[in-house]
Amino acid sequence: MIEVLRLGHRISRDKRISTHVALVARAFGASKLYYTGQKDSDYEKSVSDVVKDFGGDFNIEYVKSWKELFKGKTVVHLTMYGLDYREEISKVKGDILIVVGGEKVEWEVYTKVDFNLAVTNQPHSEVGALAVFLDHLTHSNYKKFDGKIKIKPSAKGKEFF
Ligand code: SAM
Repeated sequence: MIEVLRLGHRISRDKRISTHVALVARAFGASKLYYTGQKDSDYEKSVSDVVKDFGGDFNIEYVKSWKELFKGKTVVHLTMYGLDYREEISKVKGDILIVVGGEKVEWEVYTKVDFNLAVTNQPHSEVGALAVFLDHLTHSNYKKFDGKIKIKPSAKGKEFF
């Protein structure tokens, strides 16, 4: 089982990037997205709408605090300050919770997780880091989705089954 926690969602500034975190989590094989910060029903609806149309078993849930979530899980925090994910990823096993931040991640997170891992030690984005990490974690074995909308791979144009 792979789940993702997005820390510190802000309604005014993060709607688009938090939505992308959730969509990347879903597309690349996670089954659930938790988020802290501000509860945002529009955010939850936009993610649920994609699930309704494109299928799959994926939920989004707001949590007040991340502390309870860490129990019993292998927790990986993606941060540019961490160790090279390519050298550590084979040690990441069990029920996995991947944590990504927003503007600033509180220090306690760094100390409570099992792994602080970097996808390069350069600053970029929670969306980019999550996609790369999940792709490697799942060895690019993408889930099959059986939704109302099914895209037929096409060399030119847009096609649907
Ligand atoms: N200075 C911030 C920090 O605490 O790392 C950077 C914030 S960045 C805009 C938002 C999130 O993107 C970070 O919390 C982290 O999860 C992710 N991120 C950014 N660069 C990363 C990298 N090189 N490797 C892994 N995750 C990264």
